[in-house]
Amino acid sequence: MEVLNDVDTTEEPATMSAVQPGPLRPTALRKQGDDSLAIDWNDGHQSVYSWKHLRAQCPCASCREEKLQPPNPLRLLTPAELAPKPPLAPQAVEPVGYYAYRIVWNDGHDTGLYTLENLRALCECERCQAK
Ligand SMILES: [Zn+2]
Ligand SMILES: [Zn+2]
Repeated sequence: MEVLNDVDTTEEPATMSAVQPGPLRPTALRKQGDDSLAIDWNDGHQSVYSWKHLRAQCPCASCREEKLQPPNPLRLLTPAELAPKPPLAPQAVEPVGYYAYRIVWNDGHDTGLYTLENLRALCECERCQAK
């Protein structure tokens, strides 16, 4: 018999009384209004994220580095930065394997890989915010 790696082989418990903490997975992803993303998780949690929040929390190396830099008051604004911009929106949200989503933003940024763990931690729903 062929053995596959990383396949969830946990069997359904015979009784439904105990909820097994399986791997956290989104069961649905959808746009909520013009400026938010909603994710339903397999543990029943419903997450909401504003695009702005997600973009600001981009986990890619260059964004992380940028955040570590002290603000430079002498930095010049480039014409590209001063030009009017369309409201921030993703052009694509693509699954990467079973563990992450890659978001392609309309400002051309596409190197952010949001792992499921990361996304769950960024949840902006009232319950998570109250923590
Ligand atoms: Zn980034
Ligand atoms: Zn939440």
